Amino acid sequence: MGTFLPEKSCSSNRKRAVEEMIKGRDVATQLQNLLQKPCGGDGSVLAEELVVEILRSFTQTLSLMSSCCDESGEVCQIPATTTQVGSPSCGGGGDLRSVDSGESSKMPAVKDRRGCYKRKKSTSESWITVSPTMEDSYAWRKYGQKQILKAKFPRCYFRCTHKPDQGCLATKQVQKIQEDPNMYQTKYFGFHTCGALASRKQHYY
Ligand SMILES: [Zn+2]
Repeated sequence: MGTFLPEKSCSSNRKRAVEEMIKGRDVATQLQNLLQKPCGGDGSVLAEELVVEILRSFTQTLSLMSSCCDESGEVCQIPATTTQVGSPSCGGGGDLRSVDSGESSKMPAVKDRRGCYKRKKSTSESWITVSPTMEDSYAWRKYGQKQILKAKFPRCYFRCTHKPDQGCLATKQVQKIQEDPNMYQTKYFGFHTCGALASRKQHYY
């Protein structure tokens, strides 16, 4: 860049711009192929690298095109790539207080009383636990498994075994923790409405 002469720059820049666009299109196609693979992470090409290449191609093209505009008297400002940073997140300082000096109950379910987690969808409460076993006091039925991008271990999907007979909609997702494969991270969705809990739940009242 910067070595062009005003007379010739427009046509030669146009050519280079077209070349850049073709390059960009090719890389975008590669990215598309990459994203279409069911399992990412075979390591050959990284999506991030392709995106960087596409963006570089766009920037290059824009600068070539804008130098054309300059000749016709228009000023084309190319804005630097703007990155949206910092989605407004609620401070959430209040939530953390629930993890105080061990005096509070260890049952996370108790805290899921209405009004505690306003950010969550009211239809499906969820919470996460970490445990050396994927078993808990409920009977679950595995219904799926998914390889997560960049994760070493697949995520397994379970639903309450009482879904067909009692309509219990509780589900959970279990995944081994990459840094500590002896531990499982479990994310629970919804409360059990099956008989197993019916008696247990009354203790909270
Ligand atoms: Zn259940």
